[in-house]
Amino acid sequence: MSSLYRLLTPRVNYAVLGSGTSANTALRYIDSLPFSKSFQRGFDAKIAIVGGQGDVWSRFQSDFLMGQSGALYKSDVADHKPADANRYMKVGDYREQQRQALEKTVKQHQTVFVPGSALKVQKYGRHDFLVTTTEGLQFAANNLLMATGAGPERDPGTFLKVGKRPSVPRRAFPEVINGTDFMMNGASARGGVVVVYGGAPTSAWNTGIASINHNQVIWMANPAFGGFKAANPAGRNSEIIRQNLDNMYWGVPEEIIYKGVSNPLDAKEGGLVIRASNLRLQGEKTGKDTELVVSQFVYAIGTDPRLALSFLDPYTYDSLSPIYDVHACFSASAFNAALGLTSEDGDVIVVGPAAYKGLSAKGSSLLWENMATAFPSPARPYAGITMANASIEGLANYVALHNPNLLTANRQQLAEGLKKISHSATEKNRLQVADKIIEVRSSKDRVTERELVQVIKDGLGTGGV
Ligand SMILES: Cc1cc2nc3c(=O)[nH]c(=O)nc-3n(C[C@H](O)[C@H](O)[C@H](O)COP(=O)(O)OP(=O)(O)OC[C@H]3O[C@@H](n4cnc5c(N)ncnc54)[C@H](O)[C@@H]3O)c2cc1C
Repeated sequence: MSSLYRLLTPRVNYAVLGSGTSANTALRYIDSLPFSKSFQRGFDAKIAIVGGQGDVWSRFQSDFLMGQSGALYKSDVADHKPADANRYMKVGDYREQQRQALEKTVKQHQTVFVPGSALKVQKYGRHDFLVTTTEGLQFAANNLLMATGAGPERDPGTFLKVGKRPSVPRRAFPEVINGTDFMMNGASARGGVVVVYGGAPTSAWNTGIASINHNQVIWMANPAFGGFKAANPAGRNSEIIRQNLDNMYWGVPEEIIYKGVSNPLDAKEGGLVIRASNLRLQGEKTGKDTELVVSQFVYAIGTDPRLALSFLDPYTYDSLSPIYDVHACFSASAFNAALGLTSEDGDVIVVGPAAYKGLSAKGSSLLWENMATAFPSPARPYAGITMANASIEGLANYVALHNPNLLTANRQQLAEGLKKISHSATEKNRLQVADKIIEVRSSKDRVTERELVQVIKDGLGTGGV
């Protein structure tokens, strides 16, 4: 990049990609996240948020119930009990809570909102990123915070053969639709036969929604991917499962053939043939290859991790590696779980499901999943809101303590490190906690970082994670 161009390009300290839960939480902690570079003067703004098309929740109806109670998003997850049916948080309330949190952050920092999505992010020189948006805007950033979510839904063409649609009039509903679109705004084949494919929570909700429309639902999950094992985190979908026990099949859809219909408005006239192999009711021993004539096929088999961070230049993408849970706050050992991803130069941090997907694209899904063992079941799924928030809080509060090392640092080094954990604690309070750490260290032959983290939690009242 020429120096003239450099002069003319607007510059910010942090480019934040994404405007969902993860971005919102990370923004609250922006000054405590372990970026290698600190704020320098001379920027046009401190933070530029490229928010994309709105997060998952912006597309739900306000009265839709989320998977957990509101308390979970505020309190210590370790104390959380499963919510009863009346206490699940409404999407509208969650959106309002998020809006207020963002407003607060924006007031605290000099922030600009950039319309559109990030189309391309390129690193140039050692210290800058050039962000190009779908609206044709460009700006430079010192650091990059990516909270772009789990990425686009996996396309059915990548896992089953889809035939060509004959040139007949369109039906009043999409015949083949992904589970998220179906939940948010997808019209249903009212009265027709609907196949829902997938064994995770989204497919359970799809089954629930399709059943309300009095469709005949065939809920199908692939045994090779655990069948319906992941469908019911924290008992959230027990009711849907109980009502659909007779509709739950194990099997693999192999091919979708569009056969066309004489009356596109009559959903009962099935326009699709699904060829499924080894189809059997859950619990049956043997299955058989079957052809089903249905009206609609809803697929919810997750997102494609290779697409989650595809706007990053190859150099930056390749340099991403896990930020480990060095203090074993969320996992059995220090290197058992990742809280996020970072670049070689420490100027990129990826958080939330974007980090989990980035990791799995690099061949490692286990790191993030291991975090789940530290959480009670209401806090799951592991790519859900609580886990995303906890990992970001972990990055801000505990990774900062990696240097100095809790096990060896002296009193002054500890007090300095504690500043990053709680800005509001007084110097006297930080020194007291540092003294307590030293006392615990010397009172035992062997002390773990985890124990010392507890001393910090007790002393500074940081709770939360
Ligand atoms: C149907 C469904 C139901 C769910 N229900 C629950 C639940 O009940 N409880 C729970 O805990 N979890 C649930 N989850 C998971 C939950 O959505 C995630 O945990 C949470 O929303 C993740 O937040 P996020 O900010 O990381 O990602 P998202 O909410 O997906 O937000 C990603 C953000 O990145 C932006 N973005 C994407 N690409 C770009 C780009 N190139 N440039 C700029 N911005 C970009 C998007 O516009 C968006 O603002 C559900 C997920 C789905 C799909």
